[in-house]
Amino acid sequence: APGLYVVATPIGNLGDMTDRAKAVLAQVDLIACEDTRVTQKLLSYLMIRKPMLPYHEHNGPAMRPKLLEKLAGGARIALVSDAGTPLISDPGFKLVDAVCEAGHKVTPIPGPSAAITALSVAGLPTDRFLFMGFPPPKSSARRDWFEAEKATRASLVFYESARRLPETLRDAADVLGARPAAVARELTKKFEEVRRDDLISLANHYEAAGAPKGEIVVVIGAAEEKAPAGTAIDADKALKLAL
Ligand code: SAM
Repeated sequence: APGLYVVATPIGNLGDMTDRAKAVLAQVDLIACEDTRVTQKLLSYLMIRKPMLPYHEHNGPAMRPKLLEKLAGGARIALVSDAGTPLISDPGFKLVDAVCEAGHKVTPIPGPSAAITALSVAGLPTDRFLFMGFPPPKSSARRDWFEAEKATRASLVFYESARRLPETLRDAADVLGARPAAVARELTKKFEEVRRDDLISLANHYEAAGAPKGEIVVVIGAAEEKAPAGTAIDADKALKLAL
């Protein structure tokens, strides 16, 4: 059927490409992708030949009308990112918005996302989590960024480049303290590693060891529930009673 298909692709392990994602990429008329060279590699592996159009931050305003025109003509278009789920710290939100507004169908073809994959193995509470994207590159802005979520009762999940991991963990530890945390690296790939420790120990570790290699997701446990107001008084009462 005509419309936009938002297709998730593997985050490292090509075995994670779903049958449905393969079928859709094989069936669409056109693939809009972040980087045609990256997607060409995936298509070659899948033995699919398909016209591609670059769609990213910079050419979005110019490309959206073109893609909408094709959809109006009955085209089936897939949107893919370099890796993982489109729109999750990746381009596509404005396109999906515009396609919906124009009344065309948008179909999700779900698959891997690094954030959810990290949450699934971090061993930290997942009942509530806040996905924060990438931290600001400058330390002062980054500290404010953590400070703003200091009282948030949810696990914090964010992406960070390997190069900046040590300084970001230090800022996080300085602001948030010794909360339980996990650094998930190279998920689904050969050198996959999940390091669990308290945030201060993790900051110390990566400061001493230096920036690791590869792709990284950080998960930090939620702020501790504060004792509800009145608890101290109740404890006082209880103590008096006991005495
Ligand atoms: N849309 C993608 C998704 O759904 O996972 C994320 C795109 S974002 C531009 C790329 C970042 O995701 C990387 O810098 C890294 O922080 C994280 N990432 C992607 N693949 C990963 C992997 N295999 N292991 C750990 N982190 C990964």
